[in-house]
Amino acid sequence: MSTFSNFNFKDKKALIRVDFNVPLDKASREITDDSRMKAAVPTIKKILNDGGSVILMSHLGRPKEGPEEKSSLKHLIKHLMTLLGGVNVLFADDCIGEQAVQKAAGLKAGEVLLLENLRFYKEEEKGDPAFAEKLSQLGDVYVNDAFGTAHRAHASTAVIAQYFSSENRMFGLLMEGEVAAGEKVLLSAQRPFTAIIGGAKVSDKILIIENLLDRASDVIIGGGMAYTFWKAQGKMIGNSLCEEDRLQLALDILAKAKEKGVTIHLPVDSTIADKFAADAQTANCDSAAIPSGWMGLDIGTQAIVDFRNVILNSKTILWNGPMGVFEMEKFQNGTKSVALAVAEATSKGAFSLVGGGDSVAAVNLFHLADKVSYVSTGGGAMLEFFEGKTLPGIAAIK
Ligand code: AMP
Repeated sequence: MSTFSNFNFKDKKALIRVDFNVPLDKASREITDDSRMKAAVPTIKKILNDGGSVILMSHLGRPKEGPEEKSSLKHLIKHLMTLLGGVNVLFADDCIGEQAVQKAAGLKAGEVLLLENLRFYKEEEKGDPAFAEKLSQLGDVYVNDAFGTAHRAHASTAVIAQYFSSENRMFGLLMEGEVAAGEKVLLSAQRPFTAIIGGAKVSDKILIIENLLDRASDVIIGGGMAYTFWKAQGKMIGNSLCEEDRLQLALDILAKAKEKGVTIHLPVDSTIADKFAADAQTANCDSAAIPSGWMGLDIGTQAIVDFRNVILNSKTILWNGPMGVFEMEKFQNGTKSVALAVAEATSKGAFSLVGGGDSVAAVNLFHLADKVSYVSTGGGAMLEFFEGKTLPGIAAIK
């Protein structure tokens, strides 16, 4: 594996797997959030500045039966040119085949070729080696900069790497950043190390919690999943979210944490509501005594103070999942307070990594993305990384 920054791309054709799976407006096909495209720009620019050329490949949406207009990457051409400061972007309307081969071969230094959606071929998700080999023939060097799909063993994200020698395959700058930040937390975290896990369901987060019990000093559990932990201990949670089939699991996690010397922090109080709605009546209530007909939709005022103290005492912080139904203003306070505490701890020298769709949306909502150490671009990939799994996209390069 080469290091991207040390590689001279002069006269090289770099085949980059990017994650350009951006949301498009249904009617106009305009891009409604270009963060994933922006994230790949530094990698593309470095190659062009070196005097190389770039071939970009990505998936977009979930096409089921081959090519479809709404998932065409041609909708991204104009905006890509703008992001690259006016660089000419060519387009191949098939990611493999004669046209792609010829356009790639004819690329001059400083030019960019965007390939049509990889998932127009079923072979992509199947990880088909023949399809991967065809893609590999388009470039001299393979660069993987798509952390968002690193947990998939697809043709363009993993299988393709074997067709390049180890000197000619590498992570792009985005992937390098993701892997470095992730490894810093997972492998060399300074203690106290606090993991903040929130969101709706325990079942989605069991594996990450279990893996973190071997590493963290403190685990804060917030969001809907906290109520399964309270119910498991015989408490009254009213109509709060609860996974009845995970009660024993919650007790097992609490016991395991105790055995390993990890402190689990549950929200002692909650903002409760009389219905799941923006105009619900609300009150602050002990999380262990929620009246029937009411539900906990955010952590409460004492929990905010408790969690803040733990966070401010930490040297390493990992945050995945909101503390409440932050999409509604009445239930935002917990998530916002945790975001502010993470930012404050970071300003005092802690290393903080925020990842997972909803927590990233939350730090963006509160304009705190530049106040934490690292915001991960990978939802599922980030979760699997912290579950301790080997990600095929990373393993294939290393
Ligand atoms: P996840 O995708 O598992 O991280 O869950 C995120 C979702 O959990 C968000 O849409 C939140 O609105 C939701 N959520 C957080 N706290 C609660 C809660 N106390 N009750 C119901 N849903 C919640």
